[in-house]
Amino acid sequence: MVNLSKIVDFLFPKRCLFCKAQVDSELVCSACILKLPLIQSPFCQRCGQPLPQSLFKKSKVNPAVCPACRAKRFPFSQSRSVMLYDEDTSRLILRLKYGDQTHLASVFADLVFLNHVDIFRDVDVIIPVPLGFMRLMKRQYNQSALIASVLSNRTKIPLNTRAFVRKHFNKSQGGLSFQARHENVKEAFFVKVLEDIEDKVVLLVDDVMASGATLLSASRALKKAGAKEVRLITIARTV
Ligand SMILES: [Zn+2]
Ligand SMILES: [Zn+2]
Repeated sequence: MVNLSKIVDFLFPKRCLFCKAQVDSELVCSACILKLPLIQSPFCQRCGQPLPQSLFKKSKVNPAVCPACRAKRFPFSQSRSVMLYDEDTSRLILRLKYGDQTHLASVFADLVFLNHVDIFRDVDVIIPVPLGFMRLMKRQYNQSALIASVLSNRTKIPLNTRAFVRKHFNKSQGGLSFQARHENVKEAFFVKVLEDIEDKVVLLVDDVMASGATLLSASRALKKAGAKEVRLITIARTV
């Protein structure tokens, strides 16, 4: 029997998104993956921000925690990001979001294990940041849920997508001022199944950490519902 996909591959060989080198099935060649701005040690053990080597050496207090984190209290205990958000990584993440490149989730998971495998220690449950209903309808799937499910498969830590939800706004949201909307979003998350969260070490998964407001709000809601500890893992961060 004629293998149609082999013929298609022959006629239209797959190319690396960045260097255009021919690849088998992956979207990015291994050489280009290694050129991505990966966040590697040293980074702040609390917020996950890369630390300059110099500061790391000089610091007397706690070399593993950045100055900003020493002054602040967060609802999460640890936050990690696989890489910095730049032009290249934003292209990759957009492919995951809108290009249906679901196997990219697997590449991202590989990168999580490369530098951040310790984040999984003692985790009871993996939870993706939920999408609002309308956005879920539009995009058809939640890219954070996709990454979370690959991480769960590989670690055998249970995935939970039912306990933590986003509230659905009605039309009245449209008439609100920017400030009021912001206030509304602050309370956008909701724990639906308390016993899934109570006394659990939760690993919350999202694709991009920009201002951090969403992840702060989500972690706060989980802690309020009785989570023992909340940790964050994201694919890219803007700073
Ligand atoms: Zn390449
Ligand atoms: Zn920090």
